[in-house]
Amino acid sequence: MWQQLIQQLQHGNIKALARAISLVENGVEGYEELLVQLPNTSTAIIGITGAPGAGKSTLVDALAGEYVQAGKKAGIICVDPSSPFSMGAVLGDRVRMSSWYSHPQVYIRSLATRGSLGGLTPAIIEITDVIKAAGFDIIIIETVGVGQSEVEIAGLADATVVVMVPEGGDEVQTMKAGLMEIADIFVVNKADRPGADILVKNLHLMLAPAFKNKAHAIPIVKTAALQKQGVPELFEKIETYIACLQSSSKKYNLLAERAYQLIQQKRMRNVNKTMLLDAIQKQYNTSFNLYRFVEEWGQQK
Ligand code: GDP
Repeated sequence: MWQQLIQQLQHGNIKALARAISLVENGVEGYEELLVQLPNTSTAIIGITGAPGAGKSTLVDALAGEYVQAGKKAGIICVDPSSPFSMGAVLGDRVRMSSWYSHPQVYIRSLATRGSLGGLTPAIIEITDVIKAAGFDIIIIETVGVGQSEVEIAGLADATVVVMVPEGGDEVQTMKAGLMEIADIFVVNKADRPGADILVKNLHLMLAPAFKNKAHAIPIVKTAALQKQGVPELFEKIETYIACLQSSSKKYNLLAERAYQLIQQKRMRNVNKTMLLDAIQKQYNTSFNLYRFVEEWGQQK
C-alpha cells in the first residue's frame, strides 16, 4: 500500500516526505504499515537543548549552514512547547530559520508538544525515522529546555548538545539538575558577551571530576551564533562525536530506549483520563479497588 510513497521518500521527494510525516503525525489509518516498511539507515540524531532565549534557533540555523556547505542534507525538527490550555504551539514557526525553508538540502518541520508542557510529541520517534528514510545525513531536534524535554531528548538523540549563555556568573551553580548528565557537548553561546570565558572555565571545573570516569572529555565549545562564530568548531565536535558512536554500544542503548517509549505509547494509545474517569464513576462502589480496576482495564484492551 505504501510502496510508492516509500520509494518517493527514498528518492528524497520533499512532498512525499511532508505527506508521510502528516500521515504519521495524524495517526492516519494504516500508518503503522508505512513504519514497518521503512528502511534501516545510519542517520544520526542531534538534540539541541537549553533555556528559552539561549540562542538555540540561531545556532541550529548556523549549523544547518555548515551541513549544507559540507554537501550534506539536514532535517530539522523544532519542538515547540504547546500551551496545555490551547494545545497550540506557543512559539510558532521559528522565523530565524526562514533562510532554509526552501533549500533542497534542508528540511524543517515544527512540531507541537501536545499534552504535557515540555514533553516531546509522542510521534517524534516515528517522524524522525520517516525523515531518516528520505536520505538525510543528519537530523537536528531543537527543544525548548522546559519541563522534561531535555531529558527526553537525551533518550532519543545520538548526541545531546546543551546550550548555555553567560548571564551573571553563577550559571553553573543554578544549572538545572540533570543537564550535566545529559550533555555530550556543551555550547557556551553569546560568547560576544562578557562572562563567556568565566562560564567556560566554570564548566571545565564542574566537569573535571566526571571526566575521570569517561573515556572522552565532554567538549565545551564557545559560539556567537548570531555572528556564526565557533559554529564550524561545533560542527567538527558533533561529527567527531558521531564517528565515535558508530563503534560504541550507545546505539543499542538508544534503540532500546526508543523501543521502550514506543511500547509504552502503544499500550497507552486507547487510554485517556476522561475514559478512565467515566469508567470509575460508573463502577465506583464501597468495594472499589484501584488495582483490580487497572487489571480489568488492561484485559479489556
Ligand atoms: P532560543 O529561544 O534558544 O531558540 O533562542 P534564539 O535563537 O531565538 O535567540 C534568542 C535571542 O538571542 C535572539 O534575539 C538572538 O538574535 C539572540 N542571539 C542568539 N545568538 C546570539 C549570540 O551569539 N550573541 C548575541 N549577542 N545574541 C544572540
